[in-house]
Amino acid sequence: MITKPSKRAYVETYGCQMNISDGELMEGILERSGYDIVGSPEDADVVLVNTCAIREHAEKRVLGRVSQLNGLKRDRPDLVIGVTGCMAQRMGGTLLEQAPYVDIVMGPDGYRGLPETLDRLEASRNGEDESALRTVISGPKSIEVVRESSKRGPQLAVLQLDMDENYQGLEQRRADGPSAWVPVQRGCDHRCTYCIVPYVRGGEKNRSATEVLAEIRSLADQGVTEITLLGQTVNSYVWQDVPFPELLRRVARVDGIRRVRFTSPHPRDVNEELLDVMATEQAVCEQLHLPAQSGNNRTLKRMLRRYTVETLLEKVEMVRAAVPDIALSTDIIVAFPGETDEEFHDTLDLMRTVRFDDAFTYKYSLRDGTPATRLPDTDFIEPTEAQARLAELIAVSRQIQNEINTSEVGRIEEVLIEHEGRDPGQIRGRTKRNKVVVFDGDAARIGAYTHARLERTTGATFVGSEVETSELVTAAV
Ligand code: SF4
Repeated sequence: MITKPSKRAYVETYGCQMNISDGELMEGILERSGYDIVGSPEDADVVLVNTCAIREHAEKRVLGRVSQLNGLKRDRPDLVIGVTGCMAQRMGGTLLEQAPYVDIVMGPDGYRGLPETLDRLEASRNGEDESALRTVISGPKSIEVVRESSKRGPQLAVLQLDMDENYQGLEQRRADGPSAWVPVQRGCDHRCTYCIVPYVRGGEKNRSATEVLAEIRSLADQGVTEITLLGQTVNSYVWQDVPFPELLRRVARVDGIRRVRFTSPHPRDVNEELLDVMATEQAVCEQLHLPAQSGNNRTLKRMLRRYTVETLLEKVEMVRAAVPDIALSTDIIVAFPGETDEEFHDTLDLMRTVRFDDAFTYKYSLRDGTPATRLPDTDFIEPTEAQARLAELIAVSRQIQNEINTSEVGRIEEVLIEHEGRDPGQIRGRTKRNKVVVFDGDAARIGAYTHARLERTTGATFVGSEVETSELVTAAV
């Protein structure tokens, strides 16, 4: 009997952790239907570029990359190029027109049917599925044939959002290692006026707590010790009678799990119950990402963030009262349309008041389809001014980070060894408070826990040295 050689697929992912997780989901789906997952597009029969739509810059980069991949079709005209993820959902048919060498566009709710879509493309290419070429089917999970007579062959678009699709029952293909990201929620019910996510990922959908816990138990059996729960507004999660704090508690108590993190919470849903779990469950890390976005109430209102600077500061106080040694990080957007210089300075004041350990900083990026695009033209801030505000924010945030980290030099922290360091003979790990430490050590110990003394800081990260257990005992005495 002649066995058909298996097809090879390569998935290249851009963007946030949710997208990385979706990339692993697609790899799992393809692997289970017989595809070999390979490490480069040159070795693949199917190349999927899994995209992000959050910023214009990210989309331009992907368009450039897809055009580059098209070069591979010169020698291999049968190569399938697919674009998946948020940008595929946002651009849809326009993307197929702009990049006619793309064979499939697929939004974030279409991945379950990925193998069937690939089969259907092949059948259409072979002329075996003519009905598909004439029919545009509508409704959830359908495939829409967008271009019947493209010179380059059929192109398929799978773009329906599906409120029932949260990929229950499907496993991701994860890289080996001590840490795993586990999505518990997809989509978002908020409508922050700058954000494209609700339009490309749909409303909030939460996974069953039973399934999440079963997955984490299975990961622990495979040697995973650190879990990060993932969701667009992860702390608004609720499944039947299990709200997020209860899920977090149950995850923290799974045998073998030593560290639990979660991202990204919405400040509005940071409550006493959550803080109680964070303060009492040993495995929950002393780290919280609290996306502030702005330090000015008028801007927050126009962003539709649903909190004020005052309530945000109250939350920070509550968090620090419950978990005194917590490390806080944030996201900030500068130059939101209409932001005055004074309002921008309120954001700098917020940074100086809260003193976040880390900040992810962005210039506002206009996204078609979001409410902010309807603001008057005169509100949009000149790129040079936006750049200057960003530079000032970064300088303030780095200075604060440097001061905080310098004050932590000398501490001894538990470190999970995650990677090799940049220099030979070095390894890199992370503390429970999410601080990165580099020290001398053997890469064979990746996945192990140890203790390190933080000896100096480069500002963002630490250089340390491993501490003998006997020293730890002395330190404790
Ligand atoms: S909470 Fe706001 S910023 Fe976050 S994903 Fe939802 S709409 Fe976007």
